[in-house]
Amino acid sequence: MPIKILSPELASQIAAGEVVERPASVVKELIENSLDAGASTVSVTIEEAGRRLIEVADDGHGIPAAEVPLAIERHATSKLHSADDLFRIGTLGFRGEALASIGSVAKLTLTSHTKNDDAATRMVVEGGIAQAPQQVGAPQGTVVRVENLFYNVPARLKFLKKDVTERRRIDALLTRYALAYPDVRFKLIQNGQAKLQTSGNGDRRAILATLYGVDVAKQLLEVNAAEDPSTGSGQVRLTGFISPTSLTRSNRREITFFINGRWVQDISLSTALIQAYHTLLMVGRYPLAAVFLDLEPAAVDVNVHPTKAEVRFQDPQRMFSFVQRSVRKAILAYTPVPQMGIAPPALWTERPSTQSGIDPAWKFAGEAGNQVIRNQESGNQKLGDSQSLSPNAQLPNNELPSIKMPLLRLVGQIGSVYIIAEGPDGLYLIDQHAAHERVLFERLMAQRDANTISSQKLLQAEVVQLPPAQATLLEDQLAVLQKFGFEVEAFGPNAFQVRAIPTLFTGANPAAALRVLVEDFEGDETPLQEKIEERIAARVCKRMAVKGGQTLSSAEQESLLRDLENCESPRTCPHGRPTMIHLSVDMLERQFGRTGPR
Ligand code: ADP
Ligand code: MG
Repeated sequence: MPIKILSPELASQIAAGEVVERPASVVKELIENSLDAGASTVSVTIEEAGRRLIEVADDGHGIPAAEVPLAIERHATSKLHSADDLFRIGTLGFRGEALASIGSVAKLTLTSHTKNDDAATRMVVEGGIAQAPQQVGAPQGTVVRVENLFYNVPARLKFLKKDVTERRRIDALLTRYALAYPDVRFKLIQNGQAKLQTSGNGDRRAILATLYGVDVAKQLLEVNAAEDPSTGSGQVRLTGFISPTSLTRSNRREITFFINGRWVQDISLSTALIQAYHTLLMVGRYPLAAVFLDLEPAAVDVNVHPTKAEVRFQDPQRMFSFVQRSVRKAILAYTPVPQMGIAPPALWTERPSTQSGIDPAWKFAGEAGNQVIRNQESGNQKLGDSQSLSPNAQLPNNELPSIKMPLLRLVGQIGSVYIIAEGPDGLYLIDQHAAHERVLFERLMAQRDANTISSQKLLQAEVVQLPPAQATLLEDQLAVLQKFGFEVEAFGPNAFQVRAIPTLFTGANPAAALRVLVEDFEGDETPLQEKIEERIAARVCKRMAVKGGQTLSSAEQESLLRDLENCESPRTCPHGRPTMIHLSVDMLERQFGRTGPR
């Protein structure tokens, strides 16, 4: 094809793609404009996950009537005038692209009223074509309505995720901005339902309480650290909230960084924060955090990404260590010093740390112990191989051998983590948590298949408050939960009432069960529908199973062994990790030099 200049329409759609990727990116641009305009109230209304309508209304300073037509032009901004300004940006916007981009891929109606104009001015842009401005009546401030997003870019529409996912992104976005701007009143309405409302009274902990519930909010630790200019590129300050070591999540999603009032996704900063918890959290657990890093505008370049989601620091090393030190200090200030000054032996960590699932402590002299054990295992009794140990192991584990185990004689518990048992062919070291997980999982699935799941009514219904994004997720899974014997129903915005739990879990904490479900689901963008039930069951069982570190009575140890023997696949937990390590008589004899190598 010959080279041709793109039509202005097509060129602007291409440019728009950089800024407006999905409904949540429109919401982000519009909220940022409201904040830049000094708004004290920002109301967001969403219909059909933003495909049908996104409306953001604010009470900011508005746009002068004469400038309204300019506002929707590309590269038109009131926030930047010279190249120098670019290196000390104090506003959220500066590229002058958002309104033009949105107007080229949707129908945009901008209505704005400053205190100096007699009337409001309204302008409509549809697919990049602007109509003449009109005078209308409207209060001071700005309302931007975006209808039929991507109506003229079907390819983009196809890339959008399920409604629930797109809605969740918007929920999460509003949640974060509400936290970052506690002096601004935010309101989010999705499909006529209020998802979030803050008071704007400046109290961040109160916002955290509406998001996570009062209990969690109370536990969060405050960070407040500053470092002097003398040490580097200007003063830096870190404020906000982090979780104590007792409060964790299964993914990094609840770690939020704002840099100079801008929500950014910076891997290195969240790594610094996670590292501050080093050795204090169990493997695979992450803290919650909402922290605000403030530094001189000149010390950070925000113009590196079209959606401004990434930044570049003048001195990244300094930022990394500043964040790490400040967070560590806050954790230690609140964390009681452990009674014993010595770390527990490596063997007693929650999970075996090596790839093979066999802890280094079990390596035998000479050759690599793992190898020895492997080789000695008779072929059909091999433990799940290393591929079943990968963190992404998928359910169900049909590929793994579902070999029954022999009858075992209980020897006892060690380190409150493992159970030792003797079988006809040697010694078995059983991970009590993984084993119990397996037992619960098989029972739950068997009950489901036989339609015999029974629920236990709670004496007192428990109310669980969730952040809006997680609430949206849970709503989606209520039917599946019901199937498994949970009686859960919506209880006001973002709150759920648990009235009954499966009898299998009698005595367990229902709120914890619910929370773990949603937080684990957050990791999946589009869980396969047919696997959802298995995954939900596996996750609930994981949370409900006895933990490593829990001392079990002999009777409990005994019954765990018996239950495990009755399992279809006793050798792995529902997530594919081994429940047991087998030390065969043969191998023991060789290791003790009682028989020569074959
Ligand atoms: P940018 O925010 O990068 O300047 P936008 O396309 O988002 O670019 O907006 C263009 C201009 O329109 C802004 O510079 C600002 O002057 C004006 N504007 C947009 N939204 C608002 C608002 N909610 N209140 C006041 N002015 C606004
Ligand atoms: Mg803008």
